[in-house]
Amino acid sequence: MDDLVSLCKRRGFIFQSGEIYGGMQGMYDFGPLGVELKNNLKQAWWSSMIYENDNIEGLDAAILSNPTVLRYSGHEDTFSDPMVDCKSCKSRWRSDLLQNNKCPGCGSSDLTEPRPFNLMFKTNIGPIDDGETFGYLRPETAQSIFTNFKNVVDSSSKSLPFGIAQIGKAFRNEITPRNFIFRVREFEQMELEFFVVPGTDEEWHKKWVDMRLLWWEQQGISSENIELYDVPKDELAHYSKGTIDVMYKFPHGLEELEGIANRTDFDLGSHSKKQDELNITANVMKNNSSNTRLAIQDQNTNEWVVPYVIEPSAGVERGILAIMNEAYNVEQLENGKERTVLKLKPHLSPIKAAVIPLKKNNEELVALASEVKNSLQKLNLGRIILENTGNIGKGYRRHDEIGTPLCITIDFDSLENKTATIRDRDSMEQEVVAINELQNYLIKKING
Ligand code: ATP
Repeated sequence: MDDLVSLCKRRGFIFQSGEIYGGMQGMYDFGPLGVELKNNLKQAWWSSMIYENDNIEGLDAAILSNPTVLRYSGHEDTFSDPMVDCKSCKSRWRSDLLQNNKCPGCGSSDLTEPRPFNLMFKTNIGPIDDGETFGYLRPETAQSIFTNFKNVVDSSSKSLPFGIAQIGKAFRNEITPRNFIFRVREFEQMELEFFVVPGTDEEWHKKWVDMRLLWWEQQGISSENIELYDVPKDELAHYSKGTIDVMYKFPHGLEELEGIANRTDFDLGSHSKKQDELNITANVMKNNSSNTRLAIQDQNTNEWVVPYVIEPSAGVERGILAIMNEAYNVEQLENGKERTVLKLKPHLSPIKAAVIPLKKNNEELVALASEVKNSLQKLNLGRIILENTGNIGKGYRRHDEIGTPLCITIDFDSLENKTATIRDRDSMEQEVVAINELQNYLIKKING
């Protein structure tokens, strides 16, 4: 983990948030390379969900959430962790993570009884802070999918089975954020709510587990480092009939990468409840609770059904940590030296190719290199950079470390023969290729 954290900072993937003021626990910022990697991962998920499935639609809903939604969903009452306070050093811990019932900070056994601690961030809405006009920062993206169920069905004429997918920020006031970006307070989720005919839910649950495992493999996660955990009944979230957690061997241990839950009709059912069944205390939302039945007409029987929901829910940050961990390699070279190489799948690499003129500031070489860069950039495969440092060896080392699949050197032969030398990150082999073939070469490399 230490090597990964250090690489992330040194090369500009991930920084502690607010570092110049001492940082903020459980919050990270993605730097120039991190944002590219993150966007690429999200794009891979979006394509696999929405572009490859005509029965899945996308959504980008508000983060600030109406408290009534989170009351109906059960989050106000149940989205909490049991927490203890240490009476000696005044620190606060999750009671289920204590060892031998001792404070991990000072070792004292003088702890309070566990009390539920709600993980949702509450914030004032509007100019008057009267304690009642508040909203929550959403703790999961799922609820806005359920509350938009009718809008999406009505506007896109969907029939079962179909899905609504969303990528976006979620916030949880974790008591003990830890392990770099594994457990943080602000993170992104990639969530699909897949609506199915009740009775077909278990079959779809299995299908989605298989599809998600395949997808993680396509992102470079080796199946040897994955285990499935069938969550026991007494550990299930309040909405779940069954959950399979996709567990990954992170550097700090085996932990959840993605949860795939059978949420039954819990959420659509709850949001369909009539106004008079509710006990609403938040004035601002008093007239806004859902009184629309969130159901869909079965095309064969014409009956209205409240669908069951299968939810694959993955964390972007945990995905990035797992992918970086898989890709990170330190190799011994024949000359006795070492090289650090990030063997990312090319579609995830922050930089797709570096174009390097052999000699720094040589006008002709730099002009041709810029031309090559621009023609490759036009393909829209991701970022291509022109690296005018004049130090090819250093360029290769830097690009190995940040996972750039190809380095393209423009030398004096290039001026004469219109060729370039391509160096492959993984094999380190070099190949001379005609400049007018570079576009095809890159497309093949990135798209496979
Ligand atoms: P955990 O048991 O590790 O707290 P969870 O079961 O509460 O996770 P879910 O509610 O199933 O997590 O959320 C779906 C996904 O969102 C998780 O699989 C994970 O990838 C991501 N996630 C949840 N909480 C966090 C967090 N605090 N930091 C980073 N990612 C998170």
